[in-house]
Amino acid sequence: MEKAYIFGHKNPDTDSILSAMVLEAIEKTMGESNIKAYRLGAINKETQYVLNFFGINAPELLERVPEGAEVMLVDHNSFNQSADGIEKAKIIRVIDHHRISNFETNEPLFYLSMPVGSTSTVLKGICESSGITIDKTTAGLMLSAIISDTLLLKSPTTTTRDKEAAEELAKIAELNIKEYGTNMLKAGTDLSDFTAEDLINIDSKLFEQNGIKYQIAQVNTVAIDDVLKNKSEIENAILNYINNNSLDLFVFMITDIIENNSKIIALGRQDIIEKALNVKLEENTAFLPGVVSRKKQIIPSINSVI
Ligand code: MG
Ligand code: MG
Ligand code: MG
Repeated sequence: MEKAYIFGHKNPDTDSILSAMVLEAIEKTMGESNIKAYRLGAINKETQYVLNFFGINAPELLERVPEGAEVMLVDHNSFNQSADGIEKAKIIRVIDHHRISNFETNEPLFYLSMPVGSTSTVLKGICESSGITIDKTTAGLMLSAIISDTLLLKSPTTTTRDKEAAEELAKIAELNIKEYGTNMLKAGTDLSDFTAEDLINIDSKLFEQNGIKYQIAQVNTVAIDDVLKNKSEIENAILNYINNNSLDLFVFMITDIIENNSKIIALGRQDIIEKALNVKLEENTAFLPGVVSRKKQIIPSINSVI
């Protein structure tokens, strides 16, 4: 096989980075040597905490997929969120846990997607069914990805499978889930040195439904009001982003990972978000008690309104 590229989505989160690395390890265990994990953007602080904890380097940055190259996608399928050049690549595998949209291939492929909390939970299942022994570091990486995506197994995206996988992986990694996970999530909430432009790009995804283009960005915090101190700068950054990218709507979600609530700032087609979430925006914001999951608690409602 020619060299194959493995990567998660743009604006990579912890699951996208670590699942790419874990899939590289799995493929190598199964005898595939000419294969490498990449990242499609900067490493966030939460992911950096994990890499430092296990003493490993971040994957190399991939600017563009070479034409005709073999690629394996983790943690996404939508071309909107994938590498530049993806349309002309040969997708040979997808390991994911998202709905399928804006995705098409010319040839058959190995596609495994499950409605679970993180891509690493799917990868854990592959290890089991293939009889692959998971080493201590790989277990730690998979556990970190699960903790990140499920906000310590509390997000509504969390399934029994995620909980069981996390427990088994924590045993192998010799880690206390709550203690390690709290430290990891907190490391990701230090937003002090980010500009408003940075904030709306840390974890930002583009969606398209019936010709309506919308972006949802999310940051985790332990103090929503601290983030809102820069509300007018954030709003300006969002308006610029909407103009530069011809978006219909931008939703910026500030999620309190301790209390499990979110506040949103929404600009553009506010009517869509008001109808979708059954809220009235005040000064472009709304408080959403118990809402932490973009995937499960926001996107389906927006899509059905559109
Ligand atoms: Mg992700
Ligand atoms: Mg994920
Ligand atoms: Mg996420």
